[in-house]
Amino acid sequence: MRESTTKKYELVFIPGPGISHLVPTVEFAKTLLDSDHRFSVTVLTMNVPFGPIQPSYTDSFPQIRFIELIRPDSPPPEMKHSLSGLCELIDHYKPHSRQAITQLIATELDPNSVSLAALVLDMFTTTMVDIADELGVPSYAYYTSGAATLDLFLYIPVLDSTIETDLKDDLTRELEIPSFKNSVPSIAVPSALWTKSCDDYIWYVYCGRRMGEVKGVIINSFYDLETYAIDSLGTVSGYPKIYSVGPVLDLAGRANSDKSQTQQNENIMKWLDKQPARSVVFLCFGSRGTFDVDQVKEIANGLERSGHRFLWSVRPKDGSTRLDELVPEGFVERTAERGMVCGWVPQVGVLGHGSVGCFVSHCGWNSILESFWFGVPILTWPLYAEQHLNAFLLVKELGLSVELKGYYRVSEDDLVTAEEVERGVRKVMEGECEEVRKRVEEMKEKSRRALKEGGSSAGSVKRLIEDLIEGM
Ligand code: UDP
Repeated sequence: MRESTTKKYELVFIPGPGISHLVPTVEFAKTLLDSDHRFSVTVLTMNVPFGPIQPSYTDSFPQIRFIELIRPDSPPPEMKHSLSGLCELIDHYKPHSRQAITQLIATELDPNSVSLAALVLDMFTTTMVDIADELGVPSYAYYTSGAATLDLFLYIPVLDSTIETDLKDDLTRELEIPSFKNSVPSIAVPSALWTKSCDDYIWYVYCGRRMGEVKGVIINSFYDLETYAIDSLGTVSGYPKIYSVGPVLDLAGRANSDKSQTQQNENIMKWLDKQPARSVVFLCFGSRGTFDVDQVKEIANGLERSGHRFLWSVRPKDGSTRLDELVPEGFVERTAERGMVCGWVPQVGVLGHGSVGCFVSHCGWNSILESFWFGVPILTWPLYAEQHLNAFLLVKELGLSVELKGYYRVSEDDLVTAEEVERGVRKVMEGECEEVRKRVEEMKEKSRRALKEGGSSAGSVKRLIEDLIEGM
């Protein structure tokens, strides 16, 4: 171990594109910098059309060096929600990442005092392990989701070699994934894993295998939340070392500090101020959750029939449609006294407002952690990617959420009816799920304790720092 008080250590983070990867990565980088002043951080960013990065966001971290990678020459493939599109796009960024890091070393890092300690990749950028190998530095990954889904990710190559048929041929087939106490029905795993010949499947296996090559994986989770999964990951020989450092959250709302949003954000918070405690159902489906008109109508009718107050963040599939044209005629007027329909919301501020009593969520991992941080029970409505598995984890494994649309799905276009929306909302808001509410309240305390001095996540950060320095 070569350690001296004057020695500095540089970490280069390469998160995948999109705000929901960048924000938790940057927040974690900041945690690390605050914990140990020997570190400095550079974040390589990929500014893509589907999740543009606001300069106001990166400007709010003067202690971090951001380098925007040059867009690849070849046109990026169509993104949609496809993993293969995303991974192909990231692969195009690989030469630019290599160039940016080489230049950083040559021009910014004084070889007498600063060492490049590691590259910190994420689940989609593990193809850059090659760059770390070329440079002779260790690679770590910052996995922006939890332990259980990480385990699926690491386990995919095993599933691939042991299951010969397509999962889609029998979606009731139960899978034994080590980090899950219960058998997991195939229908709950990302649909990209259902068909072996599809491009997304091939990329999943590739990324899972490469994730297994890094030295350590830092996860945005905490021991009291995913005890079983974290313990299980720690026992598999040959797996990377796991550091659970969460919940890492953007509590200052820096990602929502865009000026164009300020007025709308104020209106939302003022509206919430007028509502009684725990009376509002909050609906929000992440950075990319959109619905077509038929589904919007069902939600509107369900909310209206439930009679409960609501704050509904809704975004049309076709981005050009106006909000008032989406909802049924007269809906806004009829529910004006008790509801607010809006676009992008300052979600952390909303969940932290005492008037919110339930969160109808797509089960993105950041949304889950934010909800528990404020002790708000989730009504699960997963849409795509690993969200169904997250819903399975929350409802079946942890008993911390209530099912609206379950982890099952008949098809991607499956409509959730107004009756289902009404039933789900009533269940949580009318006292049927008090056990879940109580457990979520406890998780709120546990999530805060994890970050405090002596807490499990604070301990993991310390261990990570030691390992990063020892690895030099
Ligand atoms: N978010 C927000 N306002 C919105 C939608 C999303 O502030 O209207 C934030 C939310 O607080 C969370 C992130 O965007 O931090 C979404 O991340 P998540 O992992 O939940 O879902 P994803 O966008 O990756 O599907």
